Amino acid sequence: MRPARFLLPVALLALLAAGVPATAGFRLETLAPGVHAAVRTDPPGLMVDANCLFIVNDEDVVVVDAPESSAELITALKRLTPKPVSHVINTHWHDDHVIGNALWRKAWPQAQFVAHPSLRDYLPGTGAKNRAGMIAGAPQAAAQMQQRLDAGRNLAGRPISDEERASYASDIALVADYMKVVPGTPDVLPDLGVDGILILQRGARRIEVRRVGRGHTDADLVVWLPQERVLASGDLVVWPVPLVGAEQSRVADWADALTGLLALKPAAILPGHGPVLHDEDYVRQLRDLFADITTQVRAARARGLDLAATRQAVDLDAWRRRFAGDSPVRDALFRRYVVDPAVASAWNAGSP
Ligand SMILES: [Zn+2]
Repeated sequence: MRPARFLLPVALLALLAAGVPATAGFRLETLAPGVHAAVRTDPPGLMVDANCLFIVNDEDVVVVDAPESSAELITALKRLTPKPVSHVINTHWHDDHVIGNALWRKAWPQAQFVAHPSLRDYLPGTGAKNRAGMIAGAPQAAAQMQQRLDAGRNLAGRPISDEERASYASDIALVADYMKVVPGTPDVLPDLGVDGILILQRGARRIEVRRVGRGHTDADLVVWLPQERVLASGDLVVWPVPLVGAEQSRVADWADALTGLLALKPAAILPGHGPVLHDEDYVRQLRDLFADITTQVRAARARGLDLAATRQAVDLDAWRRRFAGDSPVRDALFRRYVVDPAVASAWNAGSP
């Protein structure tokens, strides 16, 4: 990796690839009859907890993703309906989408857990290592951010803006929540593995768990309601900037996965993080970004450039301006989560 442009806590960065949870706030939004999204309300920042979807059917409830805030989510669901949860679907293996599984299982012991089959290997292996790293490093990272807040300086050492202040405060709160919830929480591995399509017919409701391709991780699944045209994308779609891991993500495949997602023609998309999207513009923007990175990296490889030279050759400034606008927080997030890891990820894919 290129040396960090920002004085960013190393431990925090290591965790990013692992996906990073927390509690705090969400709001419920009804996308179709019985289909309720729990949408996080945190400001954009380095730390995130995931959105969640409740699909209330004739006799039961199907839940998409199990964030760190699952205790609060279970309370909110019980206020909506007395129907039991029959299935919990994890869109991929990161903690902010799976750590709540144990709580959902405790509340509804009969519920089945659905995910890509690779979670059964990943969670006890690489996932456990990433989680241990997060638990070891997160408090120190949060303390450093608190020092920045107290000193009135941003991570680059300049006077802190209101937007940065809100973002850092959110990160610190999310770390505190993570440390409260995650250490000691056991994994619940999938009972049902999906590597193509699984159709759940629950009364009148048809729920499709689909593999549209890999992008954010090797384990990406989406949940599609064909009658309501509602899609839960997991972290294949994240707003305001995509979350890319140099090792975990598959940038060279990501555009194809998004093309598959757009082919469904969703009317509403619940991203893994960010507000509900009611048109396809942002997803097209993501698809075009990943296609462009892949094209630029392949061209650099074809010229015989190594990874370091490729980083210099790839120009993402126009994309950065498009995603970040005039927001320093989003600019920093784009550099951190896209520029550095995405070039490496596309590079790792080799030549076509
Ligand atoms: Zn993730």
